[in-house]
Amino acid sequence: MSNSFFGGIHPGDAKASTSKEASRPLSPPSQVVIPMSLHIGPPCTPTVKVGDVVKLGQKIGDSEAPISAPIHASVSGKVVAVEPRLHPNGSMVMSVVIENDGLDTPDESITPHDGENLTDPEVLTAIIREAGIVGMGGATFPTAFKISSGLGKVDTVIINAAECEPYITSDHRTMLEHPDEVIAGIRILTKVFGLELAYVGIEKNKPDAIELLSKKCGDDIKIMPLQTRYPQGAEKQLIQSITGREVPPGGLPAHVGCVVFNVFTAYSVYRAVHEGMPAIERVVTVAGDCVNTPTNLICRIGTPLEHVFEAAGGFKLPPRKVLMGGPMMGNAQFSLSAPVIKATNALLAFSGKEDKNVSNPTCIRCGKCSEVCPMRLVPMYMYMYERKSDLESLEKLHVTDCIECGACTYICPGRLHLTQSFRTAKAKINAEKARRQAAEKAATEKTAKEVAKV
Ligand code: SF4
Ligand code: SF4
Repeated sequence: MSNSFFGGIHPGDAKASTSKEASRPLSPPSQVVIPMSLHIGPPCTPTVKVGDVVKLGQKIGDSEAPISAPIHASVSGKVVAVEPRLHPNGSMVMSVVIENDGLDTPDESITPHDGENLTDPEVLTAIIREAGIVGMGGATFPTAFKISSGLGKVDTVIINAAECEPYITSDHRTMLEHPDEVIAGIRILTKVFGLELAYVGIEKNKPDAIELLSKKCGDDIKIMPLQTRYPQGAEKQLIQSITGREVPPGGLPAHVGCVVFNVFTAYSVYRAVHEGMPAIERVVTVAGDCVNTPTNLICRIGTPLEHVFEAAGGFKLPPRKVLMGGPMMGNAQFSLSAPVIKATNALLAFSGKEDKNVSNPTCIRCGKCSEVCPMRLVPMYMYMYERKSDLESLEKLHVTDCIECGACTYICPGRLHLTQSFRTAKAKINAEKARRQAAEKAATEKTAKEVAKV
């Protein structure tokens, strides 16, 4: 065990405003807007139409794609629209809009699976898939697919409870408020791989969670207190800290025998298996210097962001920046009409006092960005080549390995928008690859037609 990784930074954790705030249920809004894209992979197709009456937990969207997860109604009521609506990623996405009848009438499918063989991977992945569970730490990778693709390759199960981004305390609160359910979920995820031991990585800035889980866990779950260092919770860095194994560039955790699940995912697995409850809600930390009453709220998926901020007492200052997720990796929100999704672990509103923008960002070649990059990249040169759109040089510098953690941007005294430029670089490389593949396909088809003519 190395309990360390290369690079990283120490931003203030800013968690004090909500770490003692017990999560409380937010009353569901009069309408929920549920996008058909709540996971990595092809979006779901709506399985309901306008006018249908739906129950809480009823499936309302699904897909036959292997990397997908079905979507469920987070309230009972009437479907009033099936149309593109604003997604927190800024695009318009097909969504199911449900008028809440206020009754929360449960769907008949919500029944515990206690009688089933929960160590049978097929049974378990089917339950988890049907419950629509995805990586709830923000990655949204479908959990059932992660299990089935890791079977036979994995010797180590790791639970990610690092919660290394400043401000966010939703996983911390879940561990304190539902330790038995979290532990039961971890045991399910361990047994499905035929393993006897799981590791839970928790940053040392959550001593109460470390103490509580250590007391409650048996020998089959090892709590690993980790240095408070960003990005401790990034998958590859967590694996290195806990096992000492390094995931190779471009590789996956399974390449080094590991699989990582977020702690809220483990909790959701428990609920799916023992309560029959699909992924229809999640804990959201609401904080930032603009928020009147920073808090943790249990929000139904599809709740408009404005409804969530209202429940936190509204704004005491006009926000200049609203983020879904943490200040390092969160997505900027341009409208509070966007909904809470499965990936929403935090909503932060800032007045802009902390903005580091300058009119003329300049590299002073200090090298600090390389010192902190956990992926051992050279952000200074990557930035330069992105400016020139030199995709070949960018690929040689492994820009596609950038995990967009934001550590380089945070440390840069020249105030360069490094992470944003790497996001752009990766998008350009992907677009170029897609263009080349399309051109090759067209050329092959043309040749085939010419041969057929002869
Ligand atoms: S940290 Fe910023 S200023 Fe320093 S070398 Fe990197 S890009 Fe240049
Ligand atoms: S954003 Fe990318 S380049 Fe910058 S520190 Fe993180 S991994 Fe390295």
